[in-house]
Amino acid sequence: MESANDGAARLSEFGLINRYFAKHVSRARLGIGDDAALIDLPSDALLAVTTDTLNEGVHFLHGADPAKLGHKALAVNLSDLAAMGAVPRYALLALSMPVADPAWLEAFSAGFFALANRHNVELIGGDTTRGALSVTITAMGEVDSRALRRDGARPGDDIWVSGTLGGAALGLACLQGSVEVEPADRSAMIALLETPTPRVELGIALRGIASAAIDISDGLTGDLVHILDRSGVAAALDWTRVPQPAALSRLGDESRARQMALAGGDDYELLFTAAPERASEILSLGRSIGVPLARIGEIRGREDTARMLEIRGLTPAESGILQSHDHFRPY
Ligand code: ADP
Ligand code: MG
Repeated sequence: MESANDGAARLSEFGLINRYFAKHVSRARLGIGDDAALIDLPSDALLAVTTDTLNEGVHFLHGADPAKLGHKALAVNLSDLAAMGAVPRYALLALSMPVADPAWLEAFSAGFFALANRHNVELIGGDTTRGALSVTITAMGEVDSRALRRDGARPGDDIWVSGTLGGAALGLACLQGSVEVEPADRSAMIALLETPTPRVELGIALRGIASAAIDISDGLTGDLVHILDRSGVAAALDWTRVPQPAALSRLGDESRARQMALAGGDDYELLFTAAPERASEILSLGRSIGVPLARIGEIRGREDTARMLEIRGLTPAESGILQSHDHFRPY
């Protein structure tokens, strides 16, 4: 964003909104251009509303590819809607940036709209300000009383996870130069970090099947604990059943791989619980939408165990070092 080219100097706030963000909307009654957008509220549905911010230097590295940033900023919000079982509908975009660089805005909006169009999401408003590079998106989706919440897990439920875990953490380590992996693994893991796939279809399909759900943004164990807290239950995980990308197994550093798979953030997979009798239905659902699903443990009653979270296959010392991401962890 250093280049102050001529185009940047001539782009006004409203010029850039019109040029890069004001697209035709058909679902919303009124989109970008007024003091607020207008949307019709679905009569029998619940509106799921979520917001997430990506800050330069905290959530993405300085100089990050703007197209990938546009994708990821929306993807992390769609992942929250997926974790509620909601159908994505609308987004608001609050963008703060040091200069209005046309090439940057062109790429950013292209990355944003490629993902938005894939999920029929309409951009209906936002805010544009000068400041440190930061992207905040608010996403809205439609769900009903079968919304997937964190508080529905019951003792005896299976614990499931989609996809693989630890790939984004390995991608970050590659970018930071703290690991050596083969070139093909490197680009695949960086792609998992920079352009995550929100599990929208899976979340919608799990309505009425999953008893609780969360998306894994901060790491498996930390995010599982959120379900345990809200549901008032405990859990046992099987470390050997946690699906990892092959690149992580090839790392040749078991304790690092374990840390990445159990506590690495940014994978945006869905973690959910369901009664054991739903297992075959869940497996066939995963096959039909093309998302691998693995059963990695079970929910227990708090009264039946001394530990809130037991990880089978690891010693207490090995599981004790696991730390998931917390922006305000006291050091
Ligand atoms: P106000 O000053 O009334 O808050 P603005 O002048 O900030 O409105 O914005 C004008 C219009 O452009 C509004 O409809 C607003 O929602 C929209 N808008 C502003 N910035 C963005 C953005 N980055 N992406 C999408 N819409 C935006
Ligand atoms: Mg404004």
